[in-house]
Amino acid sequence: MSNKIQAIRGMNDVLPAESSRWQYLEHVLRALLGGHGYREIRFPVLEQTQLFKRSIGEVTDIVEKEMYTFEDRNGDSLTLRPEGTACCVRAAEQGGLLYNQTQKLWYMGPMYRHERPQKGRYRQFHQLGVEAFGMADADIEAELLLLCAEFWRAFGVEDLVQLELNSIGSSEDRARYGVALRDFLVPLRLQLDEDSQRRLESNVLRILDSKDPATQALLHDAPRLTAFIGDESRQRFDRLLTVLAEAGIPFRHNASLVRGLDYYNGMVFEWTTERLGAQATVCAGGRYDNLVRQLGGSPTPAVGFAMGLERLLLLLTDSARWPAGIDDCLDVYLALVGGGVQAQGLLLARQWRQALPTLRLLTHCGGGKYNAQLKKAYGSGARHALILEGDGPQSSIKLKALTSDEPATELRLADVVPRLRQLLQAH
Ligand code: ATP
Ligand code: MG
Repeated sequence: MSNKIQAIRGMNDVLPAESSRWQYLEHVLRALLGGHGYREIRFPVLEQTQLFKRSIGEVTDIVEKEMYTFEDRNGDSLTLRPEGTACCVRAAEQGGLLYNQTQKLWYMGPMYRHERPQKGRYRQFHQLGVEAFGMADADIEAELLLLCAEFWRAFGVEDLVQLELNSIGSSEDRARYGVALRDFLVPLRLQLDEDSQRRLESNVLRILDSKDPATQALLHDAPRLTAFIGDESRQRFDRLLTVLAEAGIPFRHNASLVRGLDYYNGMVFEWTTERLGAQATVCAGGRYDNLVRQLGGSPTPAVGFAMGLERLLLLLTDSARWPAGIDDCLDVYLALVGGGVQAQGLLLARQWRQALPTLRLLTHCGGGKYNAQLKKAYGSGARHALILEGDGPQSSIKLKALTSDEPATELRLADVVPRLRQLLQAH
């Protein structure tokens, strides 16, 4: 038996070989969000359990089966956030951002769900969430979808994702539809999967996103939500589809898309891909005009989405769409050969970095012979090595290309910065 402690199943480390990919994803997303005037909001990973029960809905997969809930030392029931929308509403309301205002916000970070781990599905995973408050019309819905399309374009995967959307109407529309759906399903009760049988009484619309094939087959002939949607929702949805068509964003109206959380109303959407098997949804969201009030604020229209960053990462890897050079993280390896040059090397490295703020220079620590240090330089991925050798005033500096066989050339100290600047520009 091993006595090494392992990570929790479904909760992954990101090792250095992969972290540059995460940084690239995050950097591109942040830049685009900033470019659209969206501002970051941060909130804790732990919240009162009640926040999620009241927003996501008691009778949903997340609340019934997936939450990490525990009592803390005071006996309070706390939950590791399974998603960000409820937290964002809580934080924005508590921070006084919502009353009589519009807000365009985003957040990025880990979420927690106790699911069966597999490719694209983990127990700790990461989302980018984008939420817009105080805007009731289709223009903000369109902006969010265009923003998603910009993400796909920036990552070069626009041909690999498809937009599906639907309008699920107002809560009154859904209540009328719920009655009709229930009337249709009651005679078929025994043919439904176990969860759906229970939900027939407690939350009949959730049956629509059952993953059980037999249940899905029964639903084929069920009444359609679309037929129950009121004029206002319908018109708003039509305006959205018009903008999307004018903006040249292809979409599919999927009348059976309802999403797995209770707080949505009006338009809902998913961006899916065929490249990730059953974990097909990369990004999903919709309008949730009642949530702020439900959580104690004044009525505030809202719309948002969350993107699964692991799935985006898998999509880029699977389709080999990472930009060239993404894994390069060093320009120069500074070797320090000989007993007297350690302190001098650290100081010179500091000067060079200050003079060239984009320079990525790693200083060798730990001593060793010339050949051993050069071997490390080759292994580091740097394109060049600087070799400081000798003892105090007698020291010399050489530059060596690591990607070719060219011999090292001696440099004057004063020439190092101009030479490095040239090399940085050439790359
Ligand atoms: P799924 O149907 O795949 O379970 P979901 O409807 O539960 O997804 P949402 O709650 O809408 O997902 O979360 C938004 C996005 O977060 C998903 O589209 C997906 O990209 C990502 N996501 C959700 N759950 C996980 C998970 N366990 N592991 C990795 N990514 C996830
Ligand atoms: Mg899920």
